[in-house]
Amino acid sequence: MKKTLVCKIDKNNIDIDKIQEFGKILKNGGTVIFPTETVYGLGADALNDKAAKKIYEAKGRPSDNPLIVHIADKEKIHEIATNIDERVYSVMDKFWPGPITIVLKKKTIVPSITSGNLDTVAVRMPSHPIAISLIKESGVFVAGPSANISGRPSPTDEENVYEEMNGRVDGIILGGDSNVGLESTVLDLTGDIPTILRPGGVTIEDLREVLGEVVIDPAILEKNENIIAKAPGMKYTHYAPKAEVFIVKKYDEDYIDKINKLVDEGIKEGKKIGIMCLDKNKDKYKGEVIGLGEDLNEVAYNLFKALREMDKKGVDIIYSESFENVGIGQAIMNRLIKAAGYKFV
Ligand code: AMP
Ligand code: MG
Repeated sequence: MKKTLVCKIDKNNIDIDKIQEFGKILKNGGTVIFPTETVYGLGADALNDKAAKKIYEAKGRPSDNPLIVHIADKEKIHEIATNIDERVYSVMDKFWPGPITIVLKKKTIVPSITSGNLDTVAVRMPSHPIAISLIKESGVFVAGPSANISGRPSPTDEENVYEEMNGRVDGIILGGDSNVGLESTVLDLTGDIPTILRPGGVTIEDLREVLGEVVIDPAILEKNENIIAKAPGMKYTHYAPKAEVFIVKKYDEDYIDKINKLVDEGIKEGKKIGIMCLDKNKDKYKGEVIGLGEDLNEVAYNLFKALREMDKKGVDIIYSESFENVGIGQAIMNRLIKAAGYKFV
């Protein structure tokens, strides 16, 4: 166990002395967890390979899975990436600071531990005031994957991030809930056609308005051993609670009856069954029901927290409703499918 410096900071009234203390930890090669608008991040100096290595250790993350480098000033992109064309400028202008990460050719200054041995680097400017302030005060490029143990749901609130990571890092800044609740969109702009490697906070519809043609990496949408995900992280089991997760296809009119029957069967076998659904269906199900919200944005905000809550309730099996595959729904379904290991009922 490491001794972890833990501090609450109010994002609307930032205590700059405290931020400077955490910034110093990063500058000196340590690890600091900080809130962002997408999920909590586990930061370290991206250009210091010893520091970046600590991220993989703290998360138990495979080292071929590259890290996103966070900046607080758009101009900084030129120090770590090359081939910055008009498309990159238009995405930065429209969506930064915000929940989108751009993959570009890297400069040699970026160590291979940060880029997962690729010749590219993923860069993002977050909008969360604490994240921005921490990056500025640290004076370094901050590598920051989600602050969970590898394979677990990304933490989006103070309690879960503290429980999982206290003692594994040098510092934790508790700064309230992440308001998007899902990770950033990862957009590859190294090729001719802009390609989404991971759906996230900025939708494909938003991107098409700015870039015209945008495609989504086929490995995101289906399980196919012959298709290799271009974002190495997408090939690993992810976002998984301890319970077994199944997604309920909504094709049948009577899906609610179907699920209740499965709940009955599970209970008879002595299992505890969880249901995740839209709020409007909450009262229709038996079992441990968690309403994820009234619309897709609320579902995105609540999804990871709900998966963790199911663990706390000691649920054995989770049935989740499926959601419309448009807008942020694409990112929601991507995370759910991963959590379920592609299992549908
Ligand atoms: P996380 O840091 O947990 O939000 O995950 C970052 C995601 O971005 C993972 O799926 C990575 O594989 C992906 N990623 C990071 N850097 C690159 C890169 N250079 N090329 C492609 N994907 C990347
Ligand atoms: Mg992650």
